[in-house]
Amino acid sequence: MSAAAPAKTALSPARRALLKMGLARDIDLALHLPLRYEDETRIRRIADTRDGEAVQVEGTVLHSEIMPGARRQLRVLLDDGSDTLELRFFTFYPSHLKALAEGAQVRVRGEMRSGLAGRQMLHPAFQPAGGPLPEALTPVYPTVAQLPQAYLRRAVQSGLEHADLAETLPSDAPPPTVLHGQNGLQRLWSLRDALYFLHHPAPDVALAALEDRSHPAWQRLKAEELLAQQLSQLQSKRERARLRAPPLQAQAGRGAQALHEQLLAALPFALTAAQRRVGEEIARDLARPVPMHRLLQGDVGAGKTVVAALAATLCIDAGWQCALMAPTEILAQQHFGKLTGWLEPLLARRGQRVAWLAGGQKKKERAEMLALVESGEAALVVGTHAVIEQQVRFRRLALAVIDEQHRFGVAQRLALRAKMREGLAAGPPQGDAAPSGGSDPRGGRAWGASVSEPHLLMMSATPIPRTLAMSYYADLDVSTLDELPPGRTPVVTRLVADSRRDEVVARIAGQLAQGRQVYWVCPLIEESEAVDLVNATATHAALAEALPGVTVGLLHSRMPAAEKKAVMAQFTEGRMGVLVSTTVIEVGVDVPNASLMVIEHAERFGLSQLHQLRGRVGRGAAASACVLLYSTGDAGRLGETARERLRAMAETGDGFEIARRDLAIRGPGEFLGARQSGAPLLRFADLATDTALLEWARALAPRMLDAHPELARRHVERWLGGKSEYLKA
Ligand code: ADP
Ligand code: MG
Repeated sequence: MSAAAPAKTALSPARRALLKMGLARDIDLALHLPLRYEDETRIRRIADTRDGEAVQVEGTVLHSEIMPGARRQLRVLLDDGSDTLELRFFTFYPSHLKALAEGAQVRVRGEMRSGLAGRQMLHPAFQPAGGPLPEALTPVYPTVAQLPQAYLRRAVQSGLEHADLAETLPSDAPPPTVLHGQNGLQRLWSLRDALYFLHHPAPDVALAALEDRSHPAWQRLKAEELLAQQLSQLQSKRERARLRAPPLQAQAGRGAQALHEQLLAALPFALTAAQRRVGEEIARDLARPVPMHRLLQGDVGAGKTVVAALAATLCIDAGWQCALMAPTEILAQQHFGKLTGWLEPLLARRGQRVAWLAGGQKKKERAEMLALVESGEAALVVGTHAVIEQQVRFRRLALAVIDEQHRFGVAQRLALRAKMREGLAAGPPQGDAAPSGGSDPRGGRAWGASVSEPHLLMMSATPIPRTLAMSYYADLDVSTLDELPPGRTPVVTRLVADSRRDEVVARIAGQLAQGRQVYWVCPLIEESEAVDLVNATATHAALAEALPGVTVGLLHSRMPAAEKKAVMAQFTEGRMGVLVSTTVIEVGVDVPNASLMVIEHAERFGLSQLHQLRGRVGRGAAASACVLLYSTGDAGRLGETARERLRAMAETGDGFEIARRDLAIRGPGEFLGARQSGAPLLRFADLATDTALLEWARALAPRMLDAHPELARRHVERWLGGKSEYLKA
């Protein structure tokens, strides 16, 4: 019995620290690479060393004594014939005194310091002189407090010796082009050689090549890592391709009756070429019996909503339900308004409705909406994440659209998938009539058994930079709206110091005089909603006073939903000149008559957030501007990244360029945000510099999965272990 005592209590603190760092398997340890190296391969002459150098010397102890006083210390004077060196220890044991006694020959290692009193080393490592010297540099690994470097070194060494480092690259894999180098085609290192080298490099290595990771050993590791990422994403993509989804094809014989054509005819504008193209991409996906997994990206104002509406009509035309979900109630409300405006008259003729679901809804309205969704009378369901709540029962959901998908967390995305499957269990529609339910022999179990999930269309106004799309998002199909609707004038962006607020207010008056409308956004201070509110309220009061006779509205996150709705309605309908708001208007709000956006404390906003906010103006034909009011605060100057963000805003209006700069400023970890929380980010490869390796991995992955599935499986297992599940969210 006692032999089965829980292993946990038997774990030493160091072992536990190892596990906490994710260093569980031999291969994990082998892939834990040094932060830097120490050179213990050489003995230096004391006279040749410089201040600050980490060195190793050998000499004879001339003198050793304990200095008395408040801080007892041991001082040892060492001589190697070229010069002398003083060693100091503030903590020491009898063993120190013995090993460092006068006349002893010792080897010491530490950082050289030279002061007025000559050369010194504090707490050097020491051992008897004359022992063998290591042949390789000594690795220094990233570690934590509970994990001594020496313990970690032994663990890594053991991992390296026991891990399965057998080659997983197929022998016919082409070498990455980056290795063609100046010296012609270079042999791709094996993983084993690369790891042994990186853990114990020869002392004559060019340290610069190790530091900037251009060394062939590093290239091999980065190539391996990127390949693992590509393989696992491709695997999940292929798994999805094996699932079934209802093919949404326009039914023959409906012709001009189809909702799709009716909507196209009813739109007050012609689609842009980009909208037509992505519309076709989506239609092709929907017609297939495999769930779509597509991201529609397009800069703010590119016109994603109408593309979503057209996809919805294809779904409805095929006799199914479509759900559209947005991250905030205001945004969902806008979609609802727009979609009902376009579709409700058309749907009404077929006895169908658009349903609305949101958190702040009255009980009675909610019950009514839930009934519409359940009966299938609601062909389209629009709302916030209330759309995926437990009580919601879709009659026959076949398409889910998520707007601003990056704003939803992993948990919500998983809930959506579960809900989506549930919504298919009832079975396919029966011809033109509303389906008769699960009792139908074609419905219920038979269908539920083979179908896995509906089609998914995600939308985002934060374009994913190309390298990210190729790596972290490789499991998605991406459609891009790269063209704005005609007649837009570019938004002029100005940086204005907060001390010049008065000029900005004068500018507002000018816009209002031309019948335009103005947004004024106050920052969100995460820790204190109360302070925000005070700021927004004060700004609101000041503007109302400075602009007599103008309706100045206030919108903030703590207002009741009904009040928010009323304020938004006033602004949308043009009955309000200035809208002061905390960041609740951030996403998707569409008021084409608004021509000026003022952002207060712009230095506190993230780059993509600023770009989103700026996208609220410039939606009509009027020349529009965005004023970024910044305050240097007590420091008297802006921080480096704040300055970079504001500069980027002033220099470009292109969402892709903004996203690229955002990536450069923040790095992929933050950029990916919720999508990848808990997911392994790339440890070794750097998407900014390793695009050639990324291309190589991308080309190799499908060939490897097809021709060498077992090698592919071992490769992914080696790098990701059990961690590849995250991709499925
Ligand atoms: P976003 O891509 O940011 O979600 P929206 O879908 O809100 O953009 O569209 C922005 C505005 O452009 C809306 O007023 C929309 O009706 C309008 N719009 C969309 N497509 C076109 C088009 N092809 N021509 C003219 N206006 C369009
Ligand atoms: Mg939008």
